Amino acid sequence: MTTARAFIGLGSNAADRDQQTGRALAALDRDGVRVAGAGGLVLGPYEPLTPGAGDVLNTVAEVRTTLAPPALLERLQAIERDAGRTRDEPHQRALDLDLLAYEDRVIDEPGLRVPHPRCTQRRFVLDPWSDVAPTFVVPASEATGRAATVVEHAASQGGPALTRHALPDFAERGKGIRILRTRDDLGHWRATQEGTVGVLMTMGALHAGHAANMQRAAAECDVALATLFVNPLQFGADEDLDRYPRTFDDDCALLLEHGATAVYAPEPSDLYPEGFATYVDPGGAAQGYEGAERPDHFRGVATVVLKLWQRTRPDRVYFGRKDAQQVAVVTQMARDLDLEGDIVVCPTIREPDGLALSSRNRYFDNGERARARALSAALAVMGAHAADGVTTAATLEAAARAHLTGSVDAIDYVAVVDADTMTPVAELTGPALAVAAARIGSVRLLDNLWIAPPVRSAVEA
Ligand code: AMP
Repeated sequence: MTTARAFIGLGSNAADRDQQTGRALAALDRDGVRVAGAGGLVLGPYEPLTPGAGDVLNTVAEVRTTLAPPALLERLQAIERDAGRTRDEPHQRALDLDLLAYEDRVIDEPGLRVPHPRCTQRRFVLDPWSDVAPTFVVPASEATGRAATVVEHAASQGGPALTRHALPDFAERGKGIRILRTRDDLGHWRATQEGTVGVLMTMGALHAGHAANMQRAAAECDVALATLFVNPLQFGADEDLDRYPRTFDDDCALLLEHGATAVYAPEPSDLYPEGFATYVDPGGAAQGYEGAERPDHFRGVATVVLKLWQRTRPDRVYFGRKDAQQVAVVTQMARDLDLEGDIVVCPTIREPDGLALSSRNRYFDNGERARARALSAALAVMGAHAADGVTTAATLEAAARAHLTGSVDAIDYVAVVDADTMTPVAELTGPALAVAAARIGSVRLLDNLWIAPPVRSAVEA
């Protein structure tokens, strides 16, 4: 079912107007409607000025909905009724919910006019609206009597001064995670952030590994943003781009729960508009292992990371050690291309049996899942032998291969490498990274583990 983007104006001039608004947002957020964000609460005179109407408290909510416009309007009216709105006293509005816009649709039917006829004239609508969707274009319509208007532009056209109120509970709980769909939305959001900004780049289908990284970003930075984009450039022709899991609503919920304030989830055309023709060609750390197995993979990764980096302007960017070569490639790129901001590498989060969490683990059937634990176990074997004093990489690799044989369907590589350069280490003289990739059924598994020779005491040395 397709999900439409719509905007709802919420207003109240009742004595308990803050609570009314908070309750209405919560009531909106169910059964086919999800509140994606809410603008600030503004208080000011009703427009056009109406004696006796008093000041009105307003906000605008951005929603994703599977309801068609008439059904959505019905929902709004039901919420108004439940809030005790009557038509007896025309100026008393316990709660006033308006369907401001529904995608770029123009509807002019008795009782249902979209965009809302006065939505581009009221400062108390435009101000909070431009908090959530500054670049939204309100389509031209006879009802509004205006040409197509960008929300932020209309908001800048003046009107009575408004006071800003604290957000209602609902928004404070973080219900208002900002979903930024376009470069302009992101740019506007970024320009208004204060303090340090942490960025977590993901392809969605999020799990507890992403959650831990998000939580860390939120803890270490004033503001944390996640990007959610399945990057076509990093998938080979025979890879799983089309079937890559997409779980947008669950992802937003997880990000919100772990401290994200906003998520940038663009369409491919927003990042790669027509005519896009410049790519990052990473050498060095990108060459072996994943780079050899998946030609152009790191070219796609480096290109998207550079673009997201430029657009989000992070103080800190969080990557998972799980994709160790990606960390090496991105670190090298940041150094070579003078990117501002620090890279923070987060430890790998694993299932209790050692399997590294991965969005692709959901492809396993039961038998495959049972066999999958062999990969982390093989790396652990290398770690144990190294700790016992085996320092020759070839010997460690042979032990891992022996462990994998019979469990996995194919071994792509097993190696001991320098984590910064991703070049092979022949003799272990200090900590190094054991890396491995193998196939089980249709899934390609990737993992790594720090290994080190035994620590010799000063007396022994
Ligand atoms: P992905 O969405 O798979 O591109 O991953 C997004 C980020 O999360 C990357 O920096 C990954 O390295 C990181 N990540 C993936 N799996 C894990 C994991 N099991 N533990 C920690 N971080 C992870």
